[in-house]
Amino acid sequence: MQIPFDNSYASLPDAFYTRLNATPVKTPQMLAFNHDLAAVLGIEVGDLSEAAQVFAGNETPDNAAPLAQLYAGHQFGNWNPQLGDGRAILLGEVIGTDGIRRDIQLKGSGPTPYSRMGDGRAWMGPVLREYLVSEAMHALGIPTTRALAAVSTGESIWREQGALPGAVLTRVARSHLRVGTFQIFAARGEVEHLKTLTQYAIDRHYPEAQGPMDLLRAVCSAQAALIPAWMAHGFIHGVMNTDNASIAGETIDYGPCAFMDAFAQNRVFSSIDQMGRYAFGNQPNIAVWNMAQLATALIAQVDDRDAAVEEATAIIHAMPEQIEANWLSRFAAKIGISTPIAADVKLLEHLLALMQEDGADFTNTFRALGTDAAREHFVDREAFDAWAANWQDRIKAEPDPQALMKRTNPAVVPRNHRVEAMIEAAVAGDMAPFERLSKALATPFTETDPDLHRPPTSDEIVPATFCGT
Ligand code: AMP
Ligand code: MG
Repeated sequence: MQIPFDNSYASLPDAFYTRLNATPVKTPQMLAFNHDLAAVLGIEVGDLSEAAQVFAGNETPDNAAPLAQLYAGHQFGNWNPQLGDGRAILLGEVIGTDGIRRDIQLKGSGPTPYSRMGDGRAWMGPVLREYLVSEAMHALGIPTTRALAAVSTGESIWREQGALPGAVLTRVARSHLRVGTFQIFAARGEVEHLKTLTQYAIDRHYPEAQGPMDLLRAVCSAQAALIPAWMAHGFIHGVMNTDNASIAGETIDYGPCAFMDAFAQNRVFSSIDQMGRYAFGNQPNIAVWNMAQLATALIAQVDDRDAAVEEATAIIHAMPEQIEANWLSRFAAKIGISTPIAADVKLLEHLLALMQEDGADFTNTFRALGTDAAREHFVDREAFDAWAANWQDRIKAEPDPQALMKRTNPAVVPRNHRVEAMIEAAVAGDMAPFERLSKALATPFTETDPDLHRPPTSDEIVPATFCGT
């Protein structure tokens, strides 16, 4: 198997990473492989069992430059001065047939100097969850890292639940640069490294940017587009720590994430997020908070501090309005409005309030709007009818609201109870539920497998996703 590596991160100063190989595992077996993505990356795979050796980390492919990246981060708001890839290895980068440079990273590939107390491993559950959900996000049109391969290791690892089957995920990202990558050099006062990193990020992601404040502006715009895209699909990331905030503006690090069933602004899924810091409706605030941390880090390299602080403050203060504008265009499209006006905010908030009041299913309610089935999602049907009358009035002038809604409101998302059932089956050796979900989620705006649209029954509800990743 040949991977056409073209590595750039490995040319950065040694202080940015530690070079090391993945730790081999006992008996690698391919659980899932993304042939479409491999084609984009220009990777030719013949034999999948040979590919399993590579994507388990047992064989280092030609021209790879394996390394673990250094970074820091705020986790749940608390500063952690050193994190780094504790269980991941960047194999290198490839430039795809679309001209885009992407990282190829193994996750769950064994301990590194940054592992702290961890074992450097991942178990099959979170590996398959990330594979499935990140690919579903991609199919929904949301910027995200992607999944190339999932390999089982044939080894057991230990988590709270006991012994679990190990696995390695091959993650593909526009880069793994995070807010935390900037934070570590700023916190250490390593201004030269900070400048090198800033130029690297500009060259790689925002070549039109001129200097650190321009970079900040570009990352803020990317994040201000990303979070409304999540929200428009009922997605809760769950761990929006600054080490999980991508400079490229992709969704990264699928841990305790979830798509909501019954709508509630304050919905939380992570079992360790007891304060609701990363609740559904708080995601815009956190994105702004994370960008303020990036601003602080970037400013550390600027000579005229006062001017930079002033400029950065203006950029950060502009972000909520940017998020609101993107939120409005995303949500307006969900109700068939192609060119929203300010008054549409009230119309949308009214609908969301009714949905929350009645515990309406997020995905199915939007998908049903404009059909007779819509009102069945509500307990107070008169209240919904009154809203719908206003809405019909508003969309009269729209050219084709139903078509807009059909391509904006998915029929299927990876519901938590399905993902959990898929994991349970996979652990028992049955990959059929994974295949079935993957297939339906690849074309989420088409009704291909209606049984997957069903929300969980009361005993199927998965109230939290545990962090034992
Ligand atoms: P995450 O919550 O997945 O974003 O991870 C936060 C930090 O913990 C990163 O530095 C990870 O590399 C590290 N980490 C998470 N799980 C493990 C593990 N099992 N072994 C070593 N490091 C880990
Ligand atoms: Mg992370």
